[in-house]
Amino acid sequence: MSELGSPENPLKVAVVGSGPSGFYAVEALLKSGKAVAVDMIERLPAPFGLVRNGVAPDHPKLKQAILVYEKIAESPAFGFFGNVTIGRDVAVDELRRLYHAIVFTCGAETDRKLGIPGEDLKGSHTATEFVGWYNGHPDYRDRVFDLSGEVAVIIGQGNVAADVARILSKTVDELKHTDIAEHALEALGRSNVREIHVIGRRGPAQAKFTGKELREFGELADCDPVLKAEDLRLNPESEAEIADKNNAGSAKNIEIFQSFAARAPSAKTRRCIFRFLEGPVRLEGAGKVERLILAKNRLEGPPFNQVARETGETVAQPCNILFRSIGYKGIPIQGVPFDERKGIFPNDEGRIKDASGPVPGLYVAGWIKRGPSGIIGTNRACAVGTVASLLADLPKMDAQAKPGGEGLRKLLAGRGPRVVTYGEWRRIDAAEIGRGQPKGKPREKFTRIAEMLDAIG
Ligand code: NAP
Repeated sequence: MSELGSPENPLKVAVVGSGPSGFYAVEALLKSGKAVAVDMIERLPAPFGLVRNGVAPDHPKLKQAILVYEKIAESPAFGFFGNVTIGRDVAVDELRRLYHAIVFTCGAETDRKLGIPGEDLKGSHTATEFVGWYNGHPDYRDRVFDLSGEVAVIIGQGNVAADVARILSKTVDELKHTDIAEHALEALGRSNVREIHVIGRRGPAQAKFTGKELREFGELADCDPVLKAEDLRLNPESEAEIADKNNAGSAKNIEIFQSFAARAPSAKTRRCIFRFLEGPVRLEGAGKVERLILAKNRLEGPPFNQVARETGETVAQPCNILFRSIGYKGIPIQGVPFDERKGIFPNDEGRIKDASGPVPGLYVAGWIKRGPSGIIGTNRACAVGTVASLLADLPKMDAQAKPGGEGLRKLLAGRGPRVVTYGEWRRIDAAEIGRGQPKGKPREKFTRIAEMLDAIG
């Protein structure tokens, strides 16, 4: 039998998910020096995962990562199976028979729960739903967000909370030349939201925004960032945190918050209010969210390990719509071990493991490997690490030739999903760009799977 990874016996790998970590895993495999054939399997007809469906429409520079992914997809060793769902159209065990290895890069598709009474009241939403909605993700296309009230509350102070707050804060003119979905632009154009409260359970030194994202709140056309100067008085442990040279980001955030606190009130219509040391206790309302009860917190513990403790005091914040933005969580796939608590596939340097050790042939990269943290580029090193583990395992792998993409195509042919190839995605892409042109938008996304499939006939 020829050596696995030789031109006579190429290493056949399936990558599940087409976001950044998926493309970086493909890139690392293509650059491995081995003969490889890599097929990417994506449940939507459109690739690019969170870069298409998560990155905010008004952050086009971040979407330039797609240019890199397009180059990777040009390789003749790359195949794309769009509109194919693992577990529904093909089982993991079937994939294992078709490929030498599978790399799961399916991200963190759901949200963490707050676990407080009233969390599921009408008008209380997850950030995931809102982000998916304004980005035209087919799963969230039909969600309805009632923006008729004046007060919106966002729980959490990470970059996703910043995205949600900024989209609520911007005018139609600031958004209309982005690739925001048409239905969202229309609804936001009718929004009556005037106050956007962005609430952290810990202090300003622990906020997880990055400086670039936070600074944008000072540059909005019709919204002022608002902050009480006294909220920026830090305890000694927080002072120690921002003095640490490895924590320059937090020191920068404090500087930006200080500049916000020093601003004179203006005549702008909207206010984005940053609040700290308040933890959600419960949501109240008659059939719909009307107020959020918050516990006043203090910090306890040493620098970098400070936790929020309730002081016993509570405040009630009237609220017409609420967004929970407290971090994402992965979801299980049948046939793959899952760590329910962490919301990841348990692994050792990218090798998926169960109670008895690594599961041969199963690998993981990106948020479903390490949890939802880091920026797009973080996933490159993460995927490279996983592919290094996979390549180190080659001598132990069953070297028998595998059917790979050809086998998968045959298997799917009898099962119904309209498989979308990369060439077909390019046609969908061109059609979206064409739809955007008359509006001065980079693209007008198709927001239903049927529309995407219609575009390719
Ligand atoms: P995140 O950065 O982890 O922020 C989560 C926030 O939720 C934190 O403020 C956290 O506070 C808070 N939180 C968690 N549990 C809570 C609870 N039970 N009650 C109240 N607050 C709670 O997560 P994310 O915003 O979802 O972002 C995920 C990753 O994507 C991050 O790495 C982020 O930087 C990245 N991202 C980047 C961009 C960009 O580069 N433009 C845009 C979007 C997302 P504690 O600190 O107290 O836990």
